[in-house]
Amino acid sequence: MGECVSDSASLLERIKDRRMRSIAESVVANSPISEGDLEYLLTTNNILELGAIANFVRHRLHGDKVYYGVNANINYTNICELRCPLCAYSKSKGEEGAFVLSLDEIERKVSDAVACGIDEVHIVGGLNPELPFEYYLEMLTRIKRIKSNLHIVAFTAVEYDYFSQKSGLPLEEIFDRFRKAGLNAIPGGGAEIFHERIRSQIAPRKITADRWLEVMRIAHRAGIKTNATMLYNHIEATADIIDHLCRIRNLQEETGGFKTFVPLVFHEENTKVPAKRRESTGFDDIRIFASARIFLYNVPHIKALWMYLGEKMAQVLLSFGVDEFGATYMNEKVVHAAGAKTPQSGTEARIVHLITNAGFVPVRVNASYEVIHALGVY
Ligand code: SF4
Repeated sequence: MGECVSDSASLLERIKDRRMRSIAESVVANSPISEGDLEYLLTTNNILELGAIANFVRHRLHGDKVYYGVNANINYTNICELRCPLCAYSKSKGEEGAFVLSLDEIERKVSDAVACGIDEVHIVGGLNPELPFEYYLEMLTRIKRIKSNLHIVAFTAVEYDYFSQKSGLPLEEIFDRFRKAGLNAIPGGGAEIFHERIRSQIAPRKITADRWLEVMRIAHRAGIKTNATMLYNHIEATADIIDHLCRIRNLQEETGGFKTFVPLVFHEENTKVPAKRRESTGFDDIRIFASARIFLYNVPHIKALWMYLGEKMAQVLLSFGVDEFGATYMNEKVVHAAGAKTPQSGTEARIVHLITNAGFVPVRVNASYEVIHALGVY
């Protein structure tokens, strides 16, 4: 790896800024940093010292490994009752481009992707009032029939809340049934920004932050691991990011069920929410990812989705606390509807090249970090 500070003495020797040094001392001692420290990190221009601390943490947890996946996306419908202002993906019923995939179509898509060698499917969609509860269960059952060890990561907390409302079933029972049908893990979408002042503008009809956290709490108690996301580069302020990270860290203290934190950079095209900048700056991205790595000491993984950030930025972030690069994402639709300029799928060879080119060891995993293989030098 390029320049790596992996032992505590050389980290502390390297940090000259007094406040950074005190943060580094906490990190070396494995003590959680304060909200004030987080604010300092999120607003610093001293990205090299910030990166050295974040990289120390990622190295302590993961050494030189960088995880990636080989998966396909299934977006089963884009018809959604909520029509959140932040969303470029959703449509109303009857609108041009609105779609629902039949179970047969889903089965065909997954079979094709399995033939291409995927390890995992990632399933999310809109809140479509016409889909019965059985549709989702049958979807999981049919997918598992195609390949019994295919890892299924499915439905956000927002969708689970909707399933519960529509079916009248408690979440505990829904998770139990979905697990029996083949669910392995839950993605982290729908968190957006928790603070009500922002949430009421970017996603006013979406479940509240408290409900999102409650759905995750129940999933964690049911033994299902999940991700947590955060959408940035829109109308949020630094205080909202601090609030968001604190709530994730607090729930993690309680349940230990978050495996990965995934900051998502907002793209504004076709949405009703203005982006802070058309593209976030490199410094903004680094401050968010590196600060999250340091603050969320209790969350094992930080993921940079190359598809949102671009390959170059995602690659650089590997030296700023990030240990996961995202996956191949055959057929990604959500971020591309909002104007992301990256390709809609990546190849494994390309991802492996980007990781090794940055001096790290690529490890192919599923979303539960079960190793498919570690390639070393590719
Ligand atoms: S962000 Fe999700 S919940 Fe909101 S409109 Fe889009 S698909 Fe629906």
